[in-house]
This record gives sequence, structure tokens and C-alpha cells, in this order.
Amino acid sequence: MLKSETIAIDGPSASGKSSLAKAVAKELGWIHADTGSLYRAVAYLLEQARMENAGEDSICRYLKDRRIAYAVQDGSTRVLLEGEDVTDCLRGENTGRTASRISQIPCVRGYLLDIQRDLGQKGGVVMDGRDIGTVILPHATLKVFLYADPLVRAFRRHRELTLKGIHADLEEVRKDLEERDRLDRSRQLAPLVQAPDAVVLDNSHLSIEDSVQWILQKLPA
Ligand code: C5P
Repeated sequence: MLKSETIAIDGPSASGKSSLAKAVAKELGWIHADTGSLYRAVAYLLEQARMENAGEDSICRYLKDRRIAYAVQDGSTRVLLEGEDVTDCLRGENTGRTASRISQIPCVRGYLLDIQRDLGQKGGVVMDGRDIGTVILPHATLKVFLYADPLVRAFRRHRELTLKGIHADLEEVRKDLEERDRLDRSRQLAPLVQAPDAVVLDNSHLSIEDSVQWILQKLPA
């Protein structure tokens, strides 16, 4: 594999994209880029400024003067907001919900496009998100579209929250994921959709190790 190559992994919320992308990147000695964290960073920024419910124009104006950037540490991307590493502040459920909403706004997607493409251009990157194979890295060496049974995804997210000590109702978690999927799949700009040249991986009942092997076998020799 050449260092200039890239792997795009897209799929719905809680389908295991990030864990899988990270494991594949580690196996190849590449960088893992989690693009959801950029949308979460914008959501976090707006929440901090109490602007998460502001109109599109105000959000666009506000974002113009903000600085969001990627930094690479130990093979994974970190998100810097005005130079400060906020990666560990982005995993909250509220921030995820706000991220799903604001990711519909064209200026937000435009604002984050260059950051993602710049990293992709360097190569040696496994990037995960919703529009990586279709918009961000249309020439990726390998495009994977992840599928996981909705109930399996709800169980995974529920377990993640429980491990973090956050009490959550399984049915609420399932509904929340369903709503995020609906928003991601139905938006006009860069919706969550399988690229025509992507291979589908149903990981509902696969371990991460098996999924990693599956992906490595799909890479051109
Ligand atoms: O993957 P994660 O749940 O962290 O992403 C948060 C939200 O960011 C998603 O629900 C989605 O709306 C948005 N997103 C996106 N395009 C990407 C990555 C994330 O629209 N490439």
C-alpha cells in the first residue's frame, strides 16, 4: 500500500465506524481521522456560546472568525478549538444531538470540508464519517459502507453510556439513533448514502478483529 492512499468508512450512528477505523489505521500504521468530532466541535462551540438554536445566518457569521483544526497525536486526530484540545469534551449525548442538527447547515459543512480534504490529501489516512466516500474522499482507495442492525446499534450505544456511568433507557437510545439516522439520510447536502463503488460490511455480529481482517483483505495488493 502506498502512503498516499486512503480508506473511507461511512455508516450510521453507533455502527462502530470509529473503533473500526482506528483499528484498521493502527494495523496499517496510518492515521485515523474521526470526522464526527469536527461536527461535534462546532456543536460544542455553539453550545458554549449559547448559540445552538440560533438561526443559520448568525451561526455562519459566528463561525467565520473561529478556528477549528485537526492535530495528530498517537495516530489519531484531535480537535483544536482556538488552539485548545477539546476532543475529550465532545462525546456527550447533547453535543451529538446538536451536531446532527447543525450538520444540515451548508456553511457548517463548507467550513469543515477543507480541514477534512487537507488531511486526506496527505494520504495514509483511514477517515470515518457520513460523506467520506461520496464527498470528502471520492477517490479513496477503498470505500466501506458499514451496516449494523438498528437494535444492535442501540445496545452498543446503551452499553457505551452505561460504562460511562450515564443512565439511559434502551428504547430512548434506539429512538434517538433512529432520529439521527433520519436527519443524516434525508438532508439535502451530503446525506448519509452508500457510494456506488463502496463495499458493504454488515458488522452486526462480527468482532472488531474480524471486521479489520475483512477490510484488509479488500485492499488492493
Ligand atoms: O459520528 P458522530 O456521531 O460523532 O457524528 C456526529 C454528527 O455529525 C452525526 O450525527 C452527523 O450528523 C454529523 N456528521 C456528518 N458528516 C460526517 C461526520 C459526522 O454530517 N462526515
